[in-house]
Amino acid sequence: MDNKLMLMIPGPTPVPEKVLLAMAQHPIGHRSGDFSKIMAAVTAGLKWLFQTQNDVLILAASGTGAVEAGIINFLSPGDRVLVGNNGKFGERWAKVCAAYGMQVEQITAEWGKALDPEAFRDRLEADTQKQIKAVIVTHSETSTGVLNDLETINRYVKAHEKALIIVDSVTSLGAANVPVDQWGLDVVASGSQKGFMLPPGLGFVAVSPKAWEAYATATCPRFYLDLGKYRKDAAKNTTPFTPPVNMFFGLQVAMEMMQAEGLENIFNRHRRHTEATRAAMKAIGLPLFAPDTNASPAITSVAPVGVDAEQIRSVMKKRYDIALAGGQDHLKGQIFRVGHLGFVCDRDILSAVSALEATLQELGFEHTAPGAGVAAAARVLATA
Ligand SMILES: *Cc1c(COP(=O)(O)O)cnc(C)c1O
Repeated sequence: MDNKLMLMIPGPTPVPEKVLLAMAQHPIGHRSGDFSKIMAAVTAGLKWLFQTQNDVLILAASGTGAVEAGIINFLSPGDRVLVGNNGKFGERWAKVCAAYGMQVEQITAEWGKALDPEAFRDRLEADTQKQIKAVIVTHSETSTGVLNDLETINRYVKAHEKALIIVDSVTSLGAANVPVDQWGLDVVASGSQKGFMLPPGLGFVAVSPKAWEAYATATCPRFYLDLGKYRKDAAKNTTPFTPPVNMFFGLQVAMEMMQAEGLENIFNRHRRHTEATRAAMKAIGLPLFAPDTNASPAITSVAPVGVDAEQIRSVMKKRYDIALAGGQDHLKGQIFRVGHLGFVCDRDILSAVSALEATLQELGFEHTAPGAGVAAAARVLATA
């Protein structure tokens, strides 16, 4: 049946009809007073969502562009950077740093495991010469469904005093608590198609005063992604280049919806959906790929045994029109990933779990009584 696709991938995520309708308007001029009003409103909304008084700049870019901007504006070729790498995205930030000629040191963990904060402490304490200019951490590592312990890692960065903390918060912003000012996070980047209930197209970067100090002397080449330009123009409620104005219409409505729900409720909803999804997988007998202690609020990775991950995805898509994500790189065929990020309600979780149980039945996987997963998820949703 046409038009029934249910996105349960970690981006793009579902978009509310209200947001889609707001976008379905004739574009307006980006130098107009009307656009400036929208710019002021969405900037205030973003500061609320990022829990910060810092600048939050808006780019026409995907999440990668936002993180790249967050790296290159504050660092120089030759700078030593410490990059946490326990999945596809951590690996990507190491590559970006290398592409700009930085000296990259990595702290790694096996895919599916969390980064060890103590490894950051050891390395930072050993750096008595204060050569490490930045620590780059992917908060929610979407490729594996692991939530890294940003709060603890950041404490060690603060103790170092010199290094900036640069955070890929692409699938944690709008899903988990990321109190930018309270934790003193210097650079925090995210993207519209993740926790923001918007289509892909906008990147967001929050920048602290300490990061702006580094900006003044940083020498990586920059032009389109020069955040100083965005800062200067944001002060006048405008943008340096033509923004996707229709995305801004949508962003304004999405921010209003999020503010009406409230931060605590948003974080709670993601926590409940994560717990319900994980309880369902356990009840069905499908092993979880990320540990309970470090479960991403955006995505649950499952490593099925005795049934093929890609076959599950294929039946889910063909018969039930539910899109799940597969594994990336060496995890292809090993895991499937259930996104529960952004505009997701309890009903979506129950639908996905029941369709998964029906899929497993069709594939001849009958470890548990059908319905056990739905029962487990429903129990969490009713009580958590
Ligand atoms: C989606 C994502 C990104 C950005 O990806 P784009 O495709 O460039 O939007 C970055 N980091 C994480 C953790 C992500 O999930």
